[in-house]
Amino acid sequence: MKYCISCGAKNEDHANVCIKCGTPFNQEFQVQNTVNETSRTVELVLGILGAVFGLLGAVFAIMFSAFGGTDILILGISALMASIVGLIGSIYVKTNAKYGGIILIISAIWLLISISAFGIIGTIFLGIAGILALVRK
Ligand SMILES: [Zn+2]
Repeated sequence: MKYCISCGAKNEDHANVCIKCGTPFNQEFQVQNTVNETSRTVELVLGILGAVFGLLGAVFAIMFSAFGGTDILILGISALMASIVGLIGSIYVKTNAKYGGIILIISAIWLLISISAFGIIGTIFLGIAGILALVRK
């Protein structure tokens, strides 16, 4: 038997919370209940989608450069790198939402500058993921 620190009620030894007032006994249980971690799955999924669309746009631009010339090839490679940065940001957002979000937004803008027409879908996804990572608590 143990006694509640809050109300003094008698409780079973294995009880997690007081049967009378609900006060948690166990420190760990208390921490588990109070720490409300925001899942960053939305940002992760959006970021990866953005990176995939960015990569597709980059590949398309690189293929198109066979007709369009070296400038488009350089932009395609730049978009490829932006997409990889976006992918890194998406994964990083799980461990550090703030830095991950900044990386995502940088990659979104970078992608937009590189291949505006091909990269717009990727930019939207990466941008939303980045903003969510920064705004959501
Ligand atoms: Zn109690």
